[in-house]
Amino acid sequence: MSLKSSIVRRPTRRVLVGHVALGGGAPVVVQSMTNTDTADIAGTVAQVHELWQAGSELVRLTVNTEEAARAVPVIREKLDALGCNVPLIGDFHFNGHRLIKAVPECAEALAKLRINPGNVGRGAKKDEQFATLIEAAARYGKAVRIGVNWGSLDQELLARMMDENAKRPKPHVPEDVMRNALITSALDSARRAEELGLPGDRIVLSCKLSGVQDLVKVYLDLASRSDYALHLGLTEAGMGSKGIVASTAALALLMQEGIGDTIRVSLTPQPGESRTTEVQVAQEILQVMGIRSFTPLVTACPGCGRTTSTVFQELAQNIQNWLRTQMPIWRGQYPGVERMNVAVMGCVVNGPGESKHANVGISLPGTGEVPVAPVYVDGAKTVTLKGDRIAEEFQTIVEDYVERTYGKTNNGQS
Ligand code: SF4
Repeated sequence: MSLKSSIVRRPTRRVLVGHVALGGGAPVVVQSMTNTDTADIAGTVAQVHELWQAGSELVRLTVNTEEAARAVPVIREKLDALGCNVPLIGDFHFNGHRLIKAVPECAEALAKLRINPGNVGRGAKKDEQFATLIEAAARYGKAVRIGVNWGSLDQELLARMMDENAKRPKPHVPEDVMRNALITSALDSARRAEELGLPGDRIVLSCKLSGVQDLVKVYLDLASRSDYALHLGLTEAGMGSKGIVASTAALALLMQEGIGDTIRVSLTPQPGESRTTEVQVAQEILQVMGIRSFTPLVTACPGCGRTTSTVFQELAQNIQNWLRTQMPIWRGQYPGVERMNVAVMGCVVNGPGESKHANVGISLPGTGEVPVAPVYVDGAKTVTLKGDRIAEEFQTIVEDYVERTYGKTNNGQS
């Protein structure tokens, strides 16, 4: 059984990034970032395509050299030829102003430019270089994310705010000043971008930190001080379960407050791990919170002393993997299937109850139980499986359920 989300999204301006809408009530968008050398056209095309197939609705790539900038329009062309229309976002630091001037086709091929106000230049050059990037975005009708990161916070701004704070009768603690400096950097840059001619409905803001509590404080404050669309993510979340847990905690707390129009989960892949894990995690966060559905999920018990074999673990894993691999085909054929819930349970204690709450559920026999597995469909026991082919037979039951329940001829959509 799943509860409907009671989250009320905070109103923000709607921004079009290519064909994808952010903010203004649009569904929360999942995005990701490549880790290939953008100048490696074949490698980058392959990874963007893989991320898109995994469900990434926007993909960001590094634009750090002239070769990378020149590669971007070619990458766009090759993706289009593959039928992959995912909007591309260029990530610019330090030399973005030079690259955009030298390779204007790069800006044309992108849907959004990510600009980090802490890395656009120093002193008098900063305003000029920031203006070059904003004017290019305005000229080509592109969106901009003003992406502040505490690892590269504008040091001149921070020093000025620290000085001002020191002169206050009751100074704030330095952490408060730092958090306020992140927000000030984002809001001042957005105001300057609007003065330079970029409409507010083409601006997305982010203020990323790597600490969960800091991130939550900053975004609560940022969201109360502006109505720009917000990109949400915990920066440098880390590897494996730590990265997933930290990102989930931070994003869940903020999305529960209705904050976040697009999310990225910044995981460091394990050696050899696919980059697409971050897309899957982002989707699962949205889905378990009841915000969006992407793929049928399996409810499974953890197992205990009543399950001495690995049969039920393998069944749960295999069914989840199978459901995930079916989705590229099912998405078009079976609208609504992404909301289906399948239960795989280890014994009679909670098995029948949990299985009844799922669309399709199976309660496997625990230790000492009669070796049979009752199957429940929409809350009613339909069949009891036994023997060596329980896994295959259960998969067939799920497949038939999908066809029957979500097939276009069955829900009036054909
Ligand atoms: S459902 Fe049964 S096997 Fe699963 S955790 Fe509960 S008692 Fe253990």
